[in-house]
Amino acid sequence: MGTIAENIRMIEDEKAEACRRVGRDPSEVLLCAVTKTHPAEMINEAIDAGITDIGENKVQEILDKYDDVKKVRWHMIGHLQTNKVKYIIDKVCMIHSVESLHLAKEINKRAEQHGITMDILIEVNTAQDENKFGVAPEDTEALIRQILGECPSIRIRGLMTIAPYREKPEDVRPFFRRTKELYDEMAKIESPNLDFKYLSMGMSNDRVIAEEEGSTIIRVGSAIFGARDYSRK
Ligand SMILES: *Cc1c(COP(=O)(O)O)cnc(C)c1O
Repeated sequence: MGTIAENIRMIEDEKAEACRRVGRDPSEVLLCAVTKTHPAEMINEAIDAGITDIGENKVQEILDKYDDVKKVRWHMIGHLQTNKVKYIIDKVCMIHSVESLHLAKEINKRAEQHGITMDILIEVNTAQDENKFGVAPEDTEALIRQILGECPSIRIRGLMTIAPYREKPEDVRPFFRRTKELYDEMAKIESPNLDFKYLSMGMSNDRVIAEEEGSTIIRVGSAIFGARDYSRK
């Protein structure tokens, strides 16, 4: 591992190469640095190295670090409990992990109270026997239509998926490809509150495959910051 800045540079270089291979513009793919378990100093180092967007998967961590981190866009990427939406509604720019109407309604309510429209992604469970969270691909359209019908303070910006772990990243390609196909289908839904721009897929080990398969947000933690130590807290 290099320094945080060197790691970011390497990820950007590899992204540019992957995009070139498939004829994409690298600026279409946003690098979201996943900062869970890492302290504010390390996050600020990443921001100094050019990171504009960070992702956290726990509400408590966002609250703990929020005041110590330099100005940046925060993304909620982890499973979100309904009773915690109120703590982050005014702190995050997008919630990647919406998988139920119940959660969407709470986000809608809190967004309305703050006079904002919240951008969300629908988390799709593309590997249903292996992943816990996310809506089944075949139920995605119904969920989107329900949210559009009942949640005027939400704007649906796209889909998110977490691929199952595979020894060889190449083996997750079919999951990403299917998610991109679903994304293209869902993007056709016409509504003032649906404006697809983000396909959030790809992590440290499978980001290059995701870039080749049409991702527009990669969520990268360990390749930037090194292995996580969950005992430190
Ligand atoms: C931790 C996490 C990541 C990043 O994982 P790495 O393998 O460290 O890159 C991406 N997405 C979600 C939802 C995560 O919880």
